[in-house]
Order: sequence, then structure tokens, then C-alpha cells
Amino acid sequence: MKAKRITIVSFAALFACLPFVWANAQEKQYPQPEPMKPEMSEYWTPQPKVVTPGNATTNAAMTAPSDAIVLFDGKDLSQWKSDKGDAKWIVHDGVVTVDKKAGDILTKQEFGDFQLHIEWQVPENITGESQARGNSGIFLQDKYEVQVLDSYGNETYVNGQAASIYKQSPPLVNAMRKPGEWNVYDIIYTAPTFTKDGRYRTYPTVTVIHNGVLVQNNTVIIGTTEYIGFPKVIPHGKGSIRLQSHGDPSLPISFRNIWIREL
Ligand code: MG
Repeated sequence: MKAKRITIVSFAALFACLPFVWANAQEKQYPQPEPMKPEMSEYWTPQPKVVTPGNATTNAAMTAPSDAIVLFDGKDLSQWKSDKGDAKWIVHDGVVTVDKKAGDILTKQEFGDFQLHIEWQVPENITGESQARGNSGIFLQDKYEVQVLDSYGNETYVNGQAASIYKQSPPLVNAMRKPGEWNVYDIIYTAPTFTKDGRYRTYPTVTVIHNGVLVQNNTVIIGTTEYIGFPKVIPHGKGSIRLQSHGDPSLPISFRNIWIREL
């Protein structure tokens, strides 16, 4: 008799719970934001002031200091790979030219804090406008893009012009040399640290000197440099330097004299 009563009580309890079980099974609906479009994170004013950089005394690249890791000395891409295997950009005349069919290239070695020197040249006969004119990029720790673009007399959204932290921070001024001349970036980067739950404990920061002119002054990077949408915070350790093969139809740009000092 006692056992029967317990069974009845158990069934009653089960039926009493059913509405709650059913309610939990229905997923709660929250409002969904509209999908973002690229232009939602692009702004065009104020355009940074144009500064004419000083002349290099010769067109020769400055060679690496004794404690640097030489990433490209004009001869080969042995320090580089692609996402699919070997780095297949075109090495010629002491420079390396982007092969857009071959995709990005990235360093085999990964880095934390560093000083990076890199030189790049837009072809003299470049065509196109805005982002479709000599677009490439240098991704720090494979996450944060310092933009490479022909920004000589070529307006675009300012947080996407040369020496911007892409879709985040425009350069302080526009220190571009004209197509056919070599541009120099010296990039000083401090890697982020992360909390256990994956937020930045300290943000990544970057200083960029473009042709001898300060264009990013210890700029705080707030997350990944996304084409569409907000920056993302993705915990990571050391990472490669990635050079972008951009899909725009303009002529490919070239790089030379790439070296890095770990800090
Ligand atoms: Mg780019």
C-alpha cells in the first residue's frame, strides 16, 4: 500500500513538472541585430594631413642590424610559408612580388613582442582607386593588420588607408611616397596578455613609423582587424608575420629588406 502511494506521488510530481520541462525545451528568443555591412565600419573624415617624407639619400635599403632575424634579404623565401605549403611569391632583382594566385605568405617563425622593418613598393603604373589600388597588408601575430595600400593621392576610408590599423585607427598623417618609390615601415609591437576567460588583460599596442614619420603612436589595438563587423578578441600566443595577397585587380606590389628584432 505504501509503495502504491509513493508511485502516485511520483507521477503527480512528474506531471506538475511537465510545463517547466516544456518551457525550457523552447529556446528563449532574443532580438537579433541586423547583419553588418563592410561600410558600417568605414569612415572617411577627417582625412589625415599629407606630409612629404624626407628623401632617402640613396634608393638602397637599410641593411639589418646584427641582432635581427633577417626574414627576407632579396634572395629567397626560406623563412616563409603559405597556408598550403611553400611560399610561392616571385623573388627577382632583390625583391619579392606578390603572386595573387598563390595567396598570403607568413613567417615560419612566430613572434611575441618585436621591432619589424619592412619596405614595400607600389608599381609606378598602378591603376584603380580606393581599396583596389595596391592593397596588401602586414598582419602582426597573424591577427592585426597594418594596412599596405597606395594612399598617394588616393582617398579611401581613413581607417583603411596605408599605415592604418585596419578598420580601427587611421594614421596620424599621410606620409606616402609616390608609386614607383619605396615606402618603409618600422613597426614596434607589444603583444597582448589574456585573462583566463579570454579577455585582454593588456591590449596589444603598436607604434608605426612610415618613411621616418610617426603615424601610429603606441596605438591600442582593440581586437582583430575584420573586414566586416566589430573587432574580435581571440586569445592567442606568439604568431607569424603574415603578408596579404589581396584580391583587388590592380598590379601586385613588392616587398624587400624585411627583418625583425625580438623584444
Ligand atoms: Mg590590406
